[in-house]
Amino acid sequence: MLIFPNRGSLRLQQGSGSLSLSRHDWIIAGAGFTGAVLAERIASQLDKKVLVVDRRSHIAGNAFDHKGEHGILVHKYGPHIFHTNAEKVWRYLSAFTAWRPYEHRVLGHIDGKLVPIPFNLDSLQALFPAREAASLTALLIETYGEGRNVPILKMRESGGALKALADFIYAKVFENYTLKQWSLRPEELDPSVSARVPVRISRDDRYFQDSFQSMPADGYSAMFARILKHPNIEVATDTDFRSLPERGANVIFTGPIDEYFGYRFGALPYRSLRFHFYARDERQAQPVGTVNYPNDHAYTRITEFKHLTGQETPGTVLVEEYPQSHEPGKNEPYYPIPTPGNAERLQPYLDAARALEGKVWFAGRLGDYAYYNMDQACARALALFEKQIAPFVRGDA
Ligand SMILES: Cc1cc2nc3c(=O)[nH]c(=O)nc-3n(C[C@H](O)[C@H](O)[C@H](O)COP(=O)(O)OP(=O)(O)OC[C@H]3O[C@@H](n4cnc5c(N)ncnc54)[C@H](O)[C@@H]3O)c2cc1C
Repeated sequence: MLIFPNRGSLRLQQGSGSLSLSRHDWIIAGAGFTGAVLAERIASQLDKKVLVVDRRSHIAGNAFDHKGEHGILVHKYGPHIFHTNAEKVWRYLSAFTAWRPYEHRVLGHIDGKLVPIPFNLDSLQALFPAREAASLTALLIETYGEGRNVPILKMRESGGALKALADFIYAKVFENYTLKQWSLRPEELDPSVSARVPVRISRDDRYFQDSFQSMPADGYSAMFARILKHPNIEVATDTDFRSLPERGANVIFTGPIDEYFGYRFGALPYRSLRFHFYARDERQAQPVGTVNYPNDHAYTRITEFKHLTGQETPGTVLVEEYPQSHEPGKNEPYYPIPTPGNAERLQPYLDAARALEGKVWFAGRLGDYAYYNMDQACARALALFEKQIAPFVRGDA
């Protein structure tokens, strides 16, 4: 049984049994960031009745968290760390949660040592003899400037000693991790993917450098319960949008866009994951929130949740992530795969979606087929509301 804080006041039901669709002006498929934020905006700013359905048994989409062993708050769909530079997103979400400041740190298991990821000047020092590390550090600073972040694919375009260093970092940190994670080489993906984890010409060992880095003080599910708690919003979990009878309401669809159109232009590729959660009777199992294993094991990384939540407990809970190919109906489509070829495959779906505008809108990680972080999903929902939904409802679209 899943626990929802504020459940008494959140209008939540399981299954579509007693839903009366005529009561609702809008139906939103998906109770993740995209769907929940849009529901809240439409309910509170336009005073319209919204039904949010999710085929999972809970709200919060991939950000769903719940109490696991030892009372530790765990993320069912893998570790979710909130970070953003978008003050607007930060302000919006702060109306629904207090925050616990948290800066995520990641170590990579490389050549038998644990070194900071993103690879930085301390990683260099840990993996190279002292004199070589000092001369490479000087060369990096001279070439790029202290404090800069350099995408690995760009660094590999350099020559001489820098090229040799870039090839080393590429081989030890990026190549096998990317093959495991995506079943592709780094250069086959959109360059923005490897640029997410740059080489740092500094000793900054924080995984993110965003201006806002915090976790919702009592978790994501509690925050979502507050976002969705509005007299104009009704939420039905365990309810697939496709099971609803013919609908007169406007629709926002945040599920997979290819699935909505019955895979008419072919299935879009996604990457999936299997999670292995386990508890240990020790206070702390690893020195930081996440340890990456680029070159060993079938899993990519292990995350220990208590670093994220700040809970003090005698035991601990960890999760290993095993990337898998996605098989529709068998596992979850977690990551759209950002390659130029997939952008082409997406195009006919975007055209079909545009033809439905005015009745159905698509948004979100799956609805847009875009590799969004949580803050980007939230920003996309706020922008869709302001630029399209609100003008449409007010009649000035
Ligand atoms: C392993 C992993 C780790 C991540 N870590 C981070 C992180 O550290 N920081 C970060 O910022 N972001 C992270 N993300 C990204 C984050 O999960 C997404 O940005 C966010 O979940 C996007 O929200 P969304 O609402 O667009 O999609 P989702 O959260 O996927 O919500 C979509 C919802 O729609 C529902 N749905 C789909 N089809 C239907 C249908 N037909 N009928 C009814 N319901 C339907 C689904 O069940 C789902 O609940 C991570 C993602 C993964 C997979």
